[in-house]
Amino acid sequence: MSDTANEVMRLEALRKSYNVGLANEIEVLHGIDLSIGRTDFAALIGPSGSGKSTLLNLIGLLDKPSSGELYLLGQATHGMDDAGRTALRGNSIGFVFQFHHLIQAFTAIENVLMPLMLAQGKPDKSAVQRARDLLAEVGLEKLADSKPNQLSGGQQQRVAIARALVTEPALLLADEPTGNLDTQTASEVFELFRRFNRERGCAVLLVTHDPRLSATCDRTIDLVDGRIVSDVVHGKAKLA
Ligand code: ADP
Ligand code: MG
Repeated sequence: MSDTANEVMRLEALRKSYNVGLANEIEVLHGIDLSIGRTDFAALIGPSGSGKSTLLNLIGLLDKPSSGELYLLGQATHGMDDAGRTALRGNSIGFVFQFHHLIQAFTAIENVLMPLMLAQGKPDKSAVQRARDLLAEVGLEKLADSKPNQLSGGQQQRVAIARALVTEPALLLADEPTGNLDTQTASEVFELFRRFNRERGCAVLLVTHDPRLSATCDRTIDLVDGRIVSDVVHGKAKLA
């Protein structure tokens, strides 16, 4: 994993504080070193409040670290301006949240097309076809023209996954993507991540509280109180 060409993402001594300069300033990530390989399928676990969402938001360029460096596809992000960060995020990252954040006024396929529309305006025919193909891959081809409120929770999360993948990201980040679903639906949605990792070669880093699901990942990274306390690949300890 130290081979840079095989890395999708690398963190070096990453720190994050909130409320900087105020009486309630708090450092929540205390120097994280982490590398994610281009085909990794990794779970990020740890107690509530340990900094998992903070870490994912930093990796996804939704927030900025207080210090340290984040490399995405070999590019250092520290000195980048907002336009550069937005472009890199759009090209390389897909994000799935616990709550899908679909736009209720839009149909399923319009929601899937959203990231492309933000990046390049009106989608062309090939973009629309890609969105249709993705909806088919998540089992929703017949529901492409449905509004979110006509879909079940599991179906809505499938739309959100298709939306995250429409830009063909190198890294898919998911923050408790099954936390809001029943066990059976959660397993099905999880299997989708698995399939996209296998078939599209997209790296996946997902936060889950479900030990049953994290056990099926290739790698488990355990974050406690803002520090990685274990990083296990195929049952073998990688870092302590
Ligand atoms: P997790 O996702 O593991 O539950 P979070 O990353 O959400 O953890 O939170 C880590 C710590 O940072 C918690 O103590 C939380 O209260 C704090 N925190 C998160 N977001 C903010 C914020 N915007 N401002 C201040 N503190 C925050
Ligand atoms: Mg969280």
